[in-house]
Amino acid sequence: MPDTGRHYLAIPGPSVIPDRVLNAMHRPAPDIYAGALPEMVPALYDDLKALVRTRHHVAVYIANGHGAWEAANTNLFSRGDAALALVTGRFGEGWAQTAQALGVAVTRLDFGLRGAVRPARVEAALRADTERRIRVVLMSHVDTTTSVRNDIAAVRAAIDAADHPALLAVDGIASVGCDVVEMDRWGIDVLVGASQKGMMAPPGLGFVWLSDKARQAGQSSGWRTPYWDWTLRTQPELFYQRFGGTAPTHHLFALRASMDMILREEGLEAVWRRHARLARAVAAAFEVWGADPSADIWLNVPDPDSRSHAVTTVHFPTPMATRLRQWLQAHAGVTLGVGIGMVPEGDPGADGFLRIAHMGHVNMHMTLGVLGALEGAMAALGVAHTPGGAARAASVLAA
Ligand SMILES: *Cc1c(COP(=O)(O)O)cnc(C)c1O
Repeated sequence: MPDTGRHYLAIPGPSVIPDRVLNAMHRPAPDIYAGALPEMVPALYDDLKALVRTRHHVAVYIANGHGAWEAANTNLFSRGDAALALVTGRFGEGWAQTAQALGVAVTRLDFGLRGAVRPARVEAALRADTERRIRVVLMSHVDTTTSVRNDIAAVRAAIDAADHPALLAVDGIASVGCDVVEMDRWGIDVLVGASQKGMMAPPGLGFVWLSDKARQAGQSSGWRTPYWDWTLRTQPELFYQRFGGTAPTHHLFALRASMDMILREEGLEAVWRRHARLARAVAAAFEVWGADPSADIWLNVPDPDSRSHAVTTVHFPTPMATRLRQWLQAHAGVTLGVGIGMVPEGDPGADGFLRIAHMGHVNMHMTLGVLGALEGAMAALGVAHTPGGAARAASVLAA
């Protein structure tokens, strides 16, 4: 197939980078001590806080999401501390493991791969912690592997109902800029993010938003090291120290452009609504295609209220997920995400899942293009399904 048209990388990160964001980086190295760059940064930090609806602080690291996890961990923990991890997929487990590697005693509550955290179990676990040893509750807002979205406010309510002092730390890497995130209203103490998903910039910046309470608590953390310490990074009057050294110059220009697009032009709430609509359209297509249970095509998350608006994990009968993905890449100019962590390692059922991203710089025709191409791929490969899913998605988006 000739390489015509523009290829669409529809994986859940890195997401599509708008041309404007790319172009914003195309410039000579700027002075990091004076001029446009340092002058731009204070307002950019205000925008980063507006993006997650917090009045508190944000620390920026030259790092990916794993680096942001580590930044949060080192400011929160000392060796021997206890944490409670709420796991709804591979990324929740991943954060728990990185804390464990620092000597944190992590207790997991596992909610499986197809549904959200159940707050009653969290409340019970915290009540059982009579010595109040648990320092932090760790969880993902959206787990990008399962596409489960958790109700953060409900978890905060469970912590409060147990009258437990634990901080609430949330991985928002896949939800910030896509799903509704209300850091202060939901009572989040620490929120981590990364630049390459809903924030529409290249990978390379990690974010840790933190409440005053978290900053206070962090002062006694044994793992705080000079580079990861969030204290100087959250002090607005500093520039060089704010980045622990040389600023990530071009990433900051990229972010300036993407924050303009999200906050000033489209508007944050419109961005949230767009993602919700695209996610609904994808779900509607799969409800049609999988209407006959013998097709064995289904959405991983049965409860619509627990589905991410940024990514949808779907099941196809083995080995069709892999074959569909390959066909789409070869013939349709679109790359979908592979399933991750949906079956035990080494299990041949691993190729039973696909992930469709609808994250960031995505519009109606892009998502309909993916769904139309997928319906074509099913026909081409003889995958049994009820036809009409793409048309159903179109009517959902037109409504
Ligand atoms: C992508 C992602 C990560 C990992 O981020 P990296 O930038 O790849 O390190 C962690 N958590 C969630 C929820 C993610 O979506």
